[in-house]
Amino acid sequence: MTGQYQAMVGPLLFTAIIASLIAVPISIVALNIVKTVNKAVAKLEDFVKFDQLTGVLARSYFLEPVRQRFSDGGALFLVDADHFKQINDTYGHDVGDMALRLIGQTLNFNVRKSDLVGRVGGEEFAIFLKGVGDQEIVTRAEQIRTAIAENGKVIAGHEINLTVSIGIAKIKKGSTLTLIFKEADENLYSAKNAGRNQFVYGPSNLNLPDTIATAN
Ligand code: GH3
Ligand code: MG
Ligand code: MG
Repeated sequence: MTGQYQAMVGPLLFTAIIASLIAVPISIVALNIVKTVNKAVAKLEDFVKFDQLTGVLARSYFLEPVRQRFSDGGALFLVDADHFKQINDTYGHDVGDMALRLIGQTLNFNVRKSDLVGRVGGEEFAIFLKGVGDQEIVTRAEQIRTAIAENGKVIAGHEINLTVSIGIAKIKKGSTLTLIFKEADENLYSAKNAGRNQFVYGPSNLNLPDTIATAN
């Protein structure tokens, strides 16, 4: 019995030594596989989260955090490129794509870290500005409008004079996501009808920073 036991000790010890020797490289390989998979998942997440053309959030990835931040208050800007069909028709779809990229970059550049920028349609973008008051809404809208008009003067060597119209709605008591989208959309429509390259906040056109009113 003792002899049999002693005979088993050798192979068992050998197996234990081999196992511990290969355990380290195996766990390193496993760890690397996990890291690679995590990186791939993060890349895939970014791929679906961000609009690949413009770099802003894709529609559903914009709407979800807006829903979550809604109770903190804020404002929704709907930003629509003016006469965009004409830009495509005149300069081609690739130049149109460049113009959209420029809008995305300009919007991202002109918002705070706590704001959200998304592409909600072909040539329509949305910004959610968390917790802003009337004065800041007006200042930021004008800043965004002028930044795009300035950056969009010349695109790919063409004098395009790209502009946007902006419809704005602020979260109020009783607001819902659907209601502020509707209000911002109505104001966008008013901005288009009033001649484009402007923003509308409230029931009338309030382009001037000293004429602030809310859409109560
Ligand atoms: P308005 O000032 O009234 O907004 O006029 P508009 O021409 O901008 O609006 P309309 O809805 O008539 O045309 C929008 C155009 O945007 C038509 C569509 O082909 C173009 N568009 C939508 N998505 C893209 C895109 O990803 N790339 C390019 N190049 N064009 C796009
Ligand atoms: Mg348009
Ligand atoms: Mg549009």
